[in-house]
Amino acid sequence: MSEQRVVIVGAGMGGLCSAIALAYQGFHVTVVEAADAPGGKVHSREVNGAQIDSGPTVFTMRWVFDALLRSVGTSIESEMRITPLQVLARHFWPDGSQLDLSADARESEAAIALWSSGDEARRFRDFCKPHGNFTPPSKAR
Ligand SMILES: Cc1cc2nc3c(=O)[nH]c(=O)nc-3n(C[C@H](O)[C@H](O)[C@H](O)COP(=O)(O)OP(=O)(O)OC[C@H]3O[C@@H](n4cnc5c(N)ncnc54)[C@H](O)[C@@H]3O)c2cc1C
Repeated sequence: MSEQRVVIVGAGMGGLCSAIALAYQGFHVTVVEAADAPGGKVHSREVNGAQIDSGPTVFTMRWVFDALLRSVGTSIESEMRITPLQVLARHFWPDGSQLDLSADARESEAAIALWSSGDEARRFRDFCKPHGNFTPPSKAR
């Protein structure tokens, strides 16, 4: 273990992913969190006895989490249980219009085209393309 110490403020996805990468590189990592539990935006609240997830609504950029966990010798499947849903989010507007986002990006694209325009659907398709590089952490010597 390195003598180099790192303090990460906030145990949201950003802080936790940084902690994984830095700990793997041999830093002595301390994560401090103001809330009662880790997760940041990813948490649930009890409303009238029911647990309601506050998000994320959509698990975006999964390939980044895959790459990070693989690079430290584990996997998403080993660390958590994920249950895919067909309808990810249902949006309503006061004028009565509705937009469902689906687990199938092509279905979402078609729904966006109907709800808005072909241009918006194309933008959504571009947004869904994997982008951004992930540089795996190198293991401590
Ligand atoms: C309404 C909304 C909907 C979203 N929906 C999605 C979605 O569907 N899919 C998706 O991928 N992303 C979504 N996002 C974006 C996603 O929530 C963020 O990208 C992600 O949470 C960022 O992670 P983070 O660790 O940077 O911040 P956060 O998740 O906000 O975590 C920050 C943490 O730091 C803690 N903290 C802050 N200040 C201090 C302090 N001084 N001391 C100690 N702890 C502190 C907080 O308590 C919190 O736990 C959404 C965001 C919002 C606001």
